[in-house]
Amino acid sequence: MSEKVYSVCVIGGGSAGTMAALRTILNNDECLFFSGSPKDKKKSRALWVRKVENVPAHLGYKRGIEDPNLETLKWIQESAFKDNFHIQKNCGVVSIKKNEKDLFEIVDSKDRKYLASFVILCTGVMDVQPHIQGTIETVFDYANAQTIDYCLICDGHHVLDKKTAIIGHDNSAAWAAIMLYERYHCPEMTILTNGKEPTFQPDTQKLITLYNINVMTTLIKEIKGEEKGKILKGFVLEDANFIEAEMSFVSMGMIVYNELAKQLGAELDERGFVKGDLNGLTSVSGLYVAGDLKANTRKQIYTAWDNAVSAATAINLIIRTNERKKRLLGHN
Ligand SMILES: Cc1cc2nc3c(=O)[nH]c(=O)nc-3n(C[C@H](O)[C@H](O)[C@H](O)COP(=O)(O)OP(=O)(O)OC[C@H]3O[C@@H](n4cnc5c(N)ncnc54)[C@H](O)[C@@H]3O)c2cc1C
Repeated sequence: MSEKVYSVCVIGGGSAGTMAALRTILNNDECLFFSGSPKDKKKSRALWVRKVENVPAHLGYKRGIEDPNLETLKWIQESAFKDNFHIQKNCGVVSIKKNEKDLFEIVDSKDRKYLASFVILCTGVMDVQPHIQGTIETVFDYANAQTIDYCLICDGHHVLDKKTAIIGHDNSAAWAAIMLYERYHCPEMTILTNGKEPTFQPDTQKLITLYNINVMTTLIKEIKGEEKGKILKGFVLEDANFIEAEMSFVSMGMIVYNELAKQLGAELDERGFVKGDLNGLTSVSGLYVAGDLKANTRKQIYTAWDNAVSAATAINLIIRTNERKKRLLGHN
């Protein structure tokens, strides 16, 4: 292992990771940056995002997270700060631990090893997908066209005056249906539990009944649509019922990419999200978390940015304070 110690290592190249790298570089701190292996990228939420309508100045991008992120990384690599930026393209981190000097020992997917003083972990999450016809691939065209969607805050407004279906069976799925119905006056709202028993709480069930939200518990047999998922028509159920829907949201929970946090023994919440303070500092010294991976944050681009800026700025404060102390002692 080379003995070089990088100041800050940013792991993840989505909204949080790119902002963490940008802020670290603009703070004039050295940044070792992993955007993820092709396998990591395939599993990232950023990959699914097309048009972004809830963040100003993003309408022009075809891939609302990937395109502006690549633009930013290119700018850093051409900027006056480029020598401080160590980007490991198409490369992920496979293991991480603390050594006896309290430094992070990092191993990447090409089996290279690094040392870093601080880490900002931004590995994100992925939405659980429904199995239809025995596979999750049935939804891919619709997910790509965002007629079957996942993010209520970002894309909920697409259901305005539209017949809508929620795929899911728990209380969160019920609340997704209630919120969209109340906000956008959907002429028909259906919850498709895809063969599962609903687990709605009594107060939630009251609203489901009040709003005439249909709950269909039969397995989904087929999705009907046109133009490679750009148009959604509805869902055929195993009992031959056809549920008309022009838009659908999946609400089945999230897979949290907390493997590296677990390797370091960071504290997680009951759903597996990594706990961090206001600046994202975790229970492990020097380890910060930002973006969707962080517990109790809204899963959005601008919250990922905000977390990332807080983490990079808190780290810069520690670096400057340590440097200042050394100068005052006459060591520099
Ligand atoms: C369909 C859909 C549409 C959405 N639309 C919007 C929208 O319009 N507006 C909005 O604000 N939000 C939207 N979101 C939410 C938004 O995508 C997330 O909030 C945002 O991507 C979170 O950023 P992140 O950096 O935490 O995670 P991600 O963007 O998921 O990035 C995670 C990164 O970590 C990398 N990674 C994972 N493991 C490793 C590893 N071991 N080593 C190195 N790298 C690793 C991946 O390659 C990836 O680059 C949408 C989400 C979905 C699913």
